[in-house]
Amino acid sequence: MPKFTHRPMTRRAFLGTTAAAGLVMVHPFTARAAAGQAHLRLMETTDLHVHVWPYDYYADREVDTVGLARTAAHIADIRAEAQNSLLLDNGDFLQGNPMGDYIAYERGMKAGDMHPIITALNTLNFDAATIGNHEFNYGLDFLMKSLDGAAFPVVLANVVKEQAADPTQDTTLVPPYVILDRELTDGAGETHPIRVGILGFTPPQVMNWDRKHLEGNVTARDIVATARAYVPQMREEGADLVVLLAHSGIGAPEPQEMMENAAAALATLPGIDAILSGHSHLVFPGPAYDGFAGADNANGTLNGVPAVMAGFWGSHLGVIDLLLERDGSGWRVVSHEVETRPISRREEDRSITALVESDPDVQEATREDHEETLAYVRRAVGKTDAPLHSYFALVADDPSVQIVSQAQEWYVRQMMQGTEWEGLPILSAAAPFKAGGRGGAEYYTDVPAGDVAIKNVADLYLYPNTVRAVKINGAELRDWLERSAGIFNQVEPGSEDVPLINPDFPSYNFDVIDGVTYRIDLTQPSKFDSKGGMLNEGASRIVDLEHEGQPVTPEMEFIVATNNYRASGGGSFPGAMGDTIVFEAPDTNRDVIVRYIVEQGTVSPRADGNWTFAPVEGATVLFDTGPGGAAYAAEVPGVQIEPAGDGPDGFARFRIGL
Ligand code: MN
Ligand code: MG
Repeated sequence: MPKFTHRPMTRRAFLGTTAAAGLVMVHPFTARAAAGQAHLRLMETTDLHVHVWPYDYYADREVDTVGLARTAAHIADIRAEAQNSLLLDNGDFLQGNPMGDYIAYERGMKAGDMHPIITALNTLNFDAATIGNHEFNYGLDFLMKSLDGAAFPVVLANVVKEQAADPTQDTTLVPPYVILDRELTDGAGETHPIRVGILGFTPPQVMNWDRKHLEGNVTARDIVATARAYVPQMREEGADLVVLLAHSGIGAPEPQEMMENAAAALATLPGIDAILSGHSHLVFPGPAYDGFAGADNANGTLNGVPAVMAGFWGSHLGVIDLLLERDGSGWRVVSHEVETRPISRREEDRSITALVESDPDVQEATREDHEETLAYVRRAVGKTDAPLHSYFALVADDPSVQIVSQAQEWYVRQMMQGTEWEGLPILSAAAPFKAGGRGGAEYYTDVPAGDVAIKNVADLYLYPNTVRAVKINGAELRDWLERSAGIFNQVEPGSEDVPLINPDFPSYNFDVIDGVTYRIDLTQPSKFDSKGGMLNEGASRIVDLEHEGQPVTPEMEFIVATNNYRASGGGSFPGAMGDTIVFEAPDTNRDVIVRYIVEQGTVSPRADGNWTFAPVEGATVLFDTGPGGAAYAAEVPGVQIEPAGDGPDGFARFRIGL
């Protein structure tokens, strides 16, 4: 027996029991269940990441694509369609948007405080939940105080305070499982007791991702091995059904040691009736899993076991319908259906249509938290002692790129601790996302020196990318920079007023790499074309490439902090084609920047001038930027910039002496 005492549960009726009348179409299983048969519906939310309201706090505006208040609108319907149902959350609820940061960094959790996501889950009468990897981001004390408010059991089997020889003898952080005693209504309207076992898992990689909070306090076990130990014990204890809350993606179909994404592998174990998965922020069944080994999109199964993954941030409600049949003294599954219900739809013109309205009870219960979060994103959380603007990000090392670079380096350095790559030089690659171009003359980052608010971070980092680290050699590093330098037109010595930028080359593919110094020789042709194809095999624009004052040789090894888009081949960068990734972070670049600013208090993203143009005898180039750039033109380090009138479409034109 686990040493944890289970929370005593009184037997209660399923919440759907009395609701199966009215206008809602009942599910065929409820309609056709005979005497001795019953319809049990499992509903999943996963990876909510504190998205309670349909609101993007970074952009400070309402959105129709997120929010448990929206997902909740499905829940009432779905309960009404089925005679018996359970509502389960699959983890990653406590962190991942500014509301979560507000509670963790500003308001705090004292004993007795309610966390808004827990309030929202309580409002909807959740039956059970598990703990995702992100629940550990703010430390164990914060987690446990948050869970204290939960009116439902929270289970997790593979994070333990004291490991024993066998998982079932471990002292776990929270109960490994719960057996829910419920009254099940069968097809004849008769009630019967049923015992539903709920067993929880999280990726064991939390020990690396949240080392500073977890090391010395808990350890993590392999998901599949832990399940193999517990499922028979739960059956012995009388569970009629065993449902896995696996905060884990689908992954390989066979068990492998310490898998991060173990949902399909879990389905190879005997005695499991349904698997709720998550963590990957994808939808199953769905096109993401077409042809995926072990996954059957048509039947909604993993290795034959009914399974679902309900997107992220409340985007979908996952539904597994089970038709049960009385089997001696217990119940067994005789048929199943799996679906996911979205809260919004993307139209062909890319506009979004909301498919449900917000549940007013959820919003009312968390209105104060929402309003406090709005005030939080609008006020200063840190300071910058340099302006963060991107007007000249394509002509000189730039503070708006530098801060992203610094935050990534700071984070990846922590993540490399204790790995085989600890001690390798850590570089950081970042590109200006808002740098005019097709976005127009106002499309620039422009945060003055002084206070930095959370809202500003969205401006510094537009995309919800996650951090990656790749390991590359000096030759790949050089080609990565050659690829970036393709944004510039070739400039002959003595030529005047040459347009500097190739307009077909998007600024997000102009990676600046910090941690090395280099110059770009514009007299040379570009080695790569604007899509990353080879253009001039022998050409080289990158000169004087040095690391700590020493020339970079082709054999030197480096870790480069970047994002998932770049690391997995986005933009076709040499050294970043997906085969060099050594670390996949669970954290978004944006979260890392927020954490960096909050922890540093004042940031000094003064560009360090690690890259410049090499002089081109007697040449000048023209560069168009936003008119707001005029105020900063004189301060840009390493280049001579003078106004040169108006550019097209509201841009301001500058002349740069090389
Ligand atoms: Mn997640
Ligand atoms: Mg720099």
